[in-house]
Amino acid sequence: MNPVPRPAAASLVALCRALGLGGAPEQVLAAVDRVYRRVDAEVRRRTQGLGLPCRPGCDACCHEAVFVAAPEFLFVSAYLVENTTGQQRKAVVEAMSAVAGRFEDELCLLEALPPGTERDEVATRVRFRCPLLSASGQCSVYPARELNARTFGSTVDEHRDAPFGCELTHERLRVLPSSASRGLLGAREARRWLRDEVPGAGDVHVYPWWFSRFGAYLLPERAAEDEGCR
Ligand code: SF4
Repeated sequence: MNPVPRPAAASLVALCRALGLGGAPEQVLAAVDRVYRRVDAEVRRRTQGLGLPCRPGCDACCHEAVFVAAPEFLFVSAYLVENTTGQQRKAVVEAMSAVAGRFEDELCLLEALPPGTERDEVATRVRFRCPLLSASGQCSVYPARELNARTFGSTVDEHRDAPFGCELTHERLRVLPSSASRGLLGAREARRWLRDEVPGAGDVHVYPWWFSRFGAYLLPERAAEDEGCR
């Protein structure tokens, strides 16, 4: 997929700046795209023949806290700018902001806590249906979906020495030889590729956090303002 509108929409340039990623969104998007392609290829290679349940159309990972870094949020935003109307984006931003309001305390805690058990425990309380999931259960931004969606259920968590995230994958791996999980890509390694390749990919927050703070850049009124400033 080509997530980069050409020329990049003025609102996307403004968003890129506001996220602290500089004024050239096309460079950031190209770097994210490279990492995603690498991860997808590696996951495909290492899961071949294992019959893991992770596939397009499965939304098992879309009902809980999904963490994304600023460049990943920019990537999804670019896809939305290119593939949806201003009214559709407005609906997404409003739905995400409503979720952010519902979990305000937890999102504040997640912002303050360092990675670790306590933060993980708070994250488990942030459960919601992702507003980017369509009524029919398909991811509406599938080609631009975040890194975790690409690794959830098809990689291992190196720190826990267990499959990353998905209970359905746990069940499948239980009936396979242990060599099957040993051959999987590490989810943390994939995250490291993103951090190494894309500046600004260090801090992660859930989608509602990003949309409630930066979603205004995707709204039709804002886009018109930014066009006027060009
Ligand atoms: S963006 Fe798509 S894959 Fe990610 S949680 Fe939302 S619906 Fe699921």
